[in-house]
Amino acid sequence: MSQMQALYDMLPTWASQVGVGPLLLAGIATGVIVGAVGRLLLARRRRGNGMELDRQSGRAKSRTDSKRDTLTGLVTRAEFESTLEEAAWQVDHKSAPPMAVLYIGLDDLRSINDGFGVRTGDALLVQVARRLSRLLGADGGADTPHVARAGGEEFALLLNGDEAAAIGMAARACAALARPFEAEGQALGLTVSVGLACYPAHGAWSRLLPHAAAAMRHVRQAGGNGHAVYAPAMAVDLREQALLLQDLRQAVERGEFKLLYQPKIDAASLQITAAEALLRWDHPTRGLVPPAVFIPLAERHGLMSSIGQWVVAEACRQAAEWRESGLRMRIAINISGHQLRHDRFVAQLEEQVRRYEIPPTRLTCEITESVAMEDTAQTRIAFQRLRRAGFHVSIDDFGTGHSSLAVLRRLPAAELKVDRSFITDLEVSESARSIVEAVLSVARTLGLRVVAEGVETEAQRDILVRMGCDELQGYLFARPMSAVALALWAEGSGPGSGQGGPAAEFRPSLFDATRPAPILP
Ligand code: C2E
Ligand code: MG
Ligand code: MG
Repeated sequence: MSQMQALYDMLPTWASQVGVGPLLLAGIATGVIVGAVGRLLLARRRRGNGMELDRQSGRAKSRTDSKRDTLTGLVTRAEFESTLEEAAWQVDHKSAPPMAVLYIGLDDLRSINDGFGVRTGDALLVQVARRLSRLLGADGGADTPHVARAGGEEFALLLNGDEAAAIGMAARACAALARPFEAEGQALGLTVSVGLACYPAHGAWSRLLPHAAAAMRHVRQAGGNGHAVYAPAMAVDLREQALLLQDLRQAVERGEFKLLYQPKIDAASLQITAAEALLRWDHPTRGLVPPAVFIPLAERHGLMSSIGQWVVAEACRQAAEWRESGLRMRIAINISGHQLRHDRFVAQLEEQVRRYEIPPTRLTCEITESVAMEDTAQTRIAFQRLRRAGFHVSIDDFGTGHSSLAVLRRLPAAELKVDRSFITDLEVSESARSIVEAVLSVARTLGLRVVAEGVETEAQRDILVRMGCDELQGYLFARPMSAVALALWAEGSGPGSGQGGPAAEFRPSLFDATRPAPILP
């Protein structure tokens, strides 16, 4: 009731703004009249545009045209939004059924534009518009206000119905657009990502389009070709990512990255063979951001090359500093697929090891199995250059990708790192033990060393030593730590280096020269 009262209080102001006469005000007593005022508001806005059209036909004509996308003839996003507003009003005041927006993005228009030309891409967009209009019962002439071109390769559909109806329509839209197209004499296939948002279920009408778009991007990021209903976490994710990306662009210049180091231990001699550099982003307000959060973002937005260069330079500088203080272990860095595919990657590595006078055999490049197995011309050249320059190559997260033994044999790898997931399950899973045994057997055949990563318990360590694993790495021995902490740990005064702890066993070996791992001919 108090809401109703507030509405009544506001009415004279509304009325004077939109030109509602006193007669109407006198009749305000029922919801029906409240409804009439609201409709009047919308109608007046529309009429306003029309009147302008009468007075100044030339300019107004172009305004009318601006409500339609020139290529597809569909309504524009702005026009679609005013249709949405009206429809939401009907839901709120006329007990109209709920409504939903479908946000439809073509998954890969860019490759069609690049491969066949923009004219073909444009012809395809026109046909997509027709098929979507037909879905809503329009004659294909794209004249329904319920289908819009929302952006370059993005369309929006408005329908009356709840979530179930919207999901049904999403499936029909995917099916309609999955049928082959012919554009400019070219047969084309398409997949689409569809995001759904419902009113009133998912919040204010003005958020419907952004919510549906967020759901669409969510589908796209998961590989496209499907649909998803909006969930609040999707919008938070996207906003979070946008904020993080802004900060990430400046993080290198601001010196916000740092490397932590985690030792690798020789299983037989218990000597430290290497320290793996693990990247951290020391964000001014968020604290330490782990690589799993920012590396995928950096890769998607072309920032990984410059971050990777910083890692290489910093790791080499640190290796030189350690060498000066008598620590002579190998240093390992993780290399992303983007870096490996970069033309100058190996040349940049060589520049840095020359600058800090580090033998290339002392620098391990950890490359994940999935990247190593790409086996494209670019990765093959990069591996050849790494081999020629004498760098030590390790295949990281081994067992999680699809390895081809033929490719593995050709790689200049000296080491396989068995993925942590198998080590975690060693004590409980027969299949995890079999996989580690199989990896060891392949490695022996190819003359490679095997490192087990993520060793957390003594039982895991014992099984791995019994199996003949060459090196171990994990929290059981040491967590990733700063370069300073590693030096203190080496001297026996750092945390975790107390007598009897695992660190104490390895301490003296830190000052030994590391036996180089075999490099395949
Ligand atoms: P990774 O190279 O396989 O590194 C091992 C990850 O497991 C590290 O996580 C390490 O902190 C963690 N770890 C080590 N021992 C244990 C253990 O006993 N238990 C558990 N639960 N975890 C353990 P982190 O530092 O978060 O790094 C994650 C991944 O990020 C790395 O996996 C690597 O692929 C990537 N990464 C890290 N630094 C860089 C970098 O400088 N460049 C690139 N391209 N990738 C990096
Ligand atoms: Mg690694
Ligand atoms: Mg790994």
